[in-house]
Amino acid sequence: MFVGHYAAALAAKAAEPRAPLWSYVVASQLVDWGWSGLVMAGVERLRLDPSLPGSHLVLEYMPWTHSLPGALVWAVGGALAARALLRVPWAAAVMLGAVVFSHWILDLLVHRPDLLLYPGGPKVGLALWNFPVPELILELGMLAVSAVLWTGQRKAEGRHAWPAALFVAVLAGLQMVNALLPGEGAPADMARTALIAYVAVAVAAWWTDRQPAPGARRG
Ligand SMILES: [Zn+2]
Repeated sequence: MFVGHYAAALAAKAAEPRAPLWSYVVASQLVDWGWSGLVMAGVERLRLDPSLPGSHLVLEYMPWTHSLPGALVWAVGGALAARALLRVPWAAAVMLGAVVFSHWILDLLVHRPDLLLYPGGPKVGLALWNFPVPELILELGMLAVSAVLWTGQRKAEGRHAWPAALFVAVLAGLQMVNALLPGEGAPADMARTALIAYVAVAVAAWWTDRQPAPGARRG
C-alpha cells in the first residue's frame, strides 16, 4: 500500500478540515516514517526479493511499527502530539490519530502475513500484493474517491482546484514509479529512498494547502 494511505489523509481532511493537510499526510504514513528510521538504524529488518509479485518487500521483523499494539501506540501518540504541538481542536487530533491507525488497516489488506497481532502472536496480512493489478486499481480507486471528496471540501472554501489536481497527479505518478522499481539493493538504501518520498509528499501537501483562494491575500 502506497498512495492508498494518502487517500485516507485526503478523506480525513475533507471530513475534518481544521488540521492542515500536511499533518494528515504525515499521519497516514507516520508508521512508515518510523519504520524507515528503524530499518536504517538496523532495529527493524527486511529483505528484497525481486521474484515476488506486487511488492518485493519481505518484512521480516517490524514489531515496533507494524504490530497491532505498535500501531495503536503510534496512533495515540500522534493524536496527543498533534494536540500539543499543532494546537488543533480535539476532534481534529482524534481524526489525525485515526488516520495514523488507518495505516495498519490498509497494510493488512495488501501485506503478505508480516503484521504481528500481539507479542509472540501470529502474523497477519491478506496478501493483495500477490495480485498486483487489482491491488493497483484499489489504490488508485481509493485515491480518486478521496480526491473528489477533498476537492469538494476545497471548493466549499472557494479555493482553486488546480493545486489539488496537481497534488493527486503527483501521487498517482509516484504510485506508478513505485510499481516499476526494480526491487533490488540494500534495505537501508530502500528505507532512505522511501523516507525521502514521504518527506517530499508532505512538503507538496503543505504547498498545496497554502495556495490561497482566488482573490484572497496571502497571509
Ligand atoms: Zn506500512
